[in-house]
Amino acid sequence: MSTEMEKITDLPQTTDAFKQSETLFRTLIENSLDAIVLTDEEGNITYASPSIERILGYAPEEFIAFHASEVIHPDDQQPATDLFMKLLSEQVSSVTIQYRVRHKNGSWRWVEGTWKNLLADPHILCVVINIHDVTERKQAEERQHLLNEASNILVSSLDHQITLKEVAELIVPALADYCRIALLDASQQIKDISVNHIDPEKITLVRALYEQYKDRASSTHGLQRLLETGKVELISNVSSEVLETVRDNPELIAIVDALGLQSYMGVPLIARGKTIGAITFSSTQPHRHYTQEDLTFAEELARRIALVLDNARLYREAQEEIAERKQAEEQLRESEERYRLVVERTTDLITLLDGEANVLYVSPSCETILGYRPDEMIGKYAFSFQHPDDLPLILQEFAKLFSGSNANVPSFRVKHKDGHWVIMAGTDSAIYDDQGKPTLIVSTSHDITQQAELERRKDEFISMASHELKTPVTSLKGFTNLFQRRLAQQADEKTLYYLNRMDAQLNKLTNLITDLLDVSKMQTGQLTYQEEPFDLNELVSETVENLQAATPTHQLFLETSGAIQVVGDRDRIGQVLINLLTNAVKYSPLADKVIVRLATDPEKAIVSVQDFGIGIAEAHHDKIFERFYQVADPEEKTYPGLGIGLYLSCDIVRRHGGNMWVESSKGSGATFYFTIPLRK
Ligand code: ADP
Repeated sequence: MSTEMEKITDLPQTTDAFKQSETLFRTLIENSLDAIVLTDEEGNITYASPSIERILGYAPEEFIAFHASEVIHPDDQQPATDLFMKLLSEQVSSVTIQYRVRHKNGSWRWVEGTWKNLLADPHILCVVINIHDVTERKQAEERQHLLNEASNILVSSLDHQITLKEVAELIVPALADYCRIALLDASQQIKDISVNHIDPEKITLVRALYEQYKDRASSTHGLQRLLETGKVELISNVSSEVLETVRDNPELIAIVDALGLQSYMGVPLIARGKTIGAITFSSTQPHRHYTQEDLTFAEELARRIALVLDNARLYREAQEEIAERKQAEEQLRESEERYRLVVERTTDLITLLDGEANVLYVSPSCETILGYRPDEMIGKYAFSFQHPDDLPLILQEFAKLFSGSNANVPSFRVKHKDGHWVIMAGTDSAIYDDQGKPTLIVSTSHDITQQAELERRKDEFISMASHELKTPVTSLKGFTNLFQRRLAQQADEKTLYYLNRMDAQLNKLTNLITDLLDVSKMQTGQLTYQEEPFDLNELVSETVENLQAATPTHQLFLETSGAIQVVGDRDRIGQVLINLLTNAVKYSPLADKVIVRLATDPEKAIVSVQDFGIGIAEAHHDKIFERFYQVADPEEKTYPGLGIGLYLSCDIVRRHGGNMWVESSKGSGATFYFTIPLRK
């Protein structure tokens, strides 16, 4: 017991009542949770109640060895001294102040002290200090403050990359002596790491140590592990026993040693169930050992950080998306501008129609081509401008758009505003809705009036020329036959031989002229067809036989299985066959055979002519059926012809309701097919 206390207790006790009350107060003081400390006017501690041990770890007799200034936190000494002086000068009779006092274990405890000056009280003659431990409350306040601070920092950084540095500066020293924060990027790689140490000089040391032991150190504890597992870690006391358990992790031990680690905890940053980062808290102070409560607090802090990070990410993504969209819109605008210019400057007529063929847009060129201003055409039914005779073909092509193909009308007439007909060629394509219905039709056409006029004149010339040629050739042929008969009677074999050759050439010439005339007639629709039933098998056999007689170079094989009844123009179908057979022989000079096959299916007869000659490259397959088309490869220049045989043949077959096509590739022969519907 202190001497001061003895002084008090040794006072003359006059009454029993006094004695009783003294015992009462002593009991109260000694059992109170708060500690009572007495000092003299110089601040020397003269008495401490037993509770001091609970609060500060010292036994009362240890504590009275101190002067107050030895146990008060340096930062709190000045205000404490000022108040003490005030108290002594009796400006105030009592004060309450919060300050930190050193615990026996070296840590600082927050206490609330109520100091009362009773120096003048003859019974007491001391300054009486009532000490109440407020460490917990203070800590709770500090933490709330920390959380608020953190929230402020985080919220203010919503619109930019959150600064981990700021958070790290909050955590140290309030919660840790050093801390590490890491964030993962979208590919789960650490993209940002922040380190803070209470001693700025040690930040580099922390970095260096973890860098050095990166992967190995984190195998049992630490940042990497937190990121991998997403689970909290707490080592309250990094005692030698704990170190024992990580013995096979010498890298971790090296870090613990170098930094003087006492206690450690780690929490993951989790957003939407995904680990997006982690924070580690490390204490190097012997008295700061993390508790479950600290961990809960750290988790709360991490939860807030993660939330803000996630919000910042969403915000960033939204910003990026807006920027991207803006850029895309800009690009679209530019390209739209380009297209608009192209459409407006083109000499072609570009028309946009709705699914019912009403004009939605027409390019300005319509004024040059058709004499109408665009607004005079917009809203009108597109086909109201076309020649009625061309409508069936136009509508037939237009219908193709409804089955997903493009339409192509090589020639049609459109009425000019001044009444004359403009000949045009056009193609249409459609833009479809989800159900596959055409919603927009883009029609591109151009004026071919001049070209068509040229064609017409050419056709007229061909027609006229072939007519003019036909008469003299017919006479020549007549006279030749007359000579042939005469010479046969005179048995002039030699002259007859030459005359026969002349006759053969005249036949060729007649065929050419006939073909040319046919083409002209076909153009003007004057080619007439017979309609009679006949046996296709018989016609094919006959034709093959006749041609074989005039073809010494090739053997013509026929594969057939009997009579096939069809209806049509027997001579014209014969002409088709002759064309195919003469081509087969002509274009296979190095081969010695041609195979003709005749087959049927329930609907039609199929005739094919196969040769083993030069073949036709795929690119020409459609074109060879066009008028005057000849494959222009250098090696084919040597073959004579006009390029009308297949054109005529194809037209004849089509007129019979059949089809014609070729299967071939360059260098490996060709097989031409045509079909004729069977007679029902
Ligand atoms: P041509 O009078 O030029 O033979 P066609 O209309 O009969 O005219 O044929 C058109 C073109 O098709 C020919 O010029 C030729 O290039 C090609 N062709 C036709 N038949 C064959 C074939 N059997 N083999 C290779 N090419 C052929």
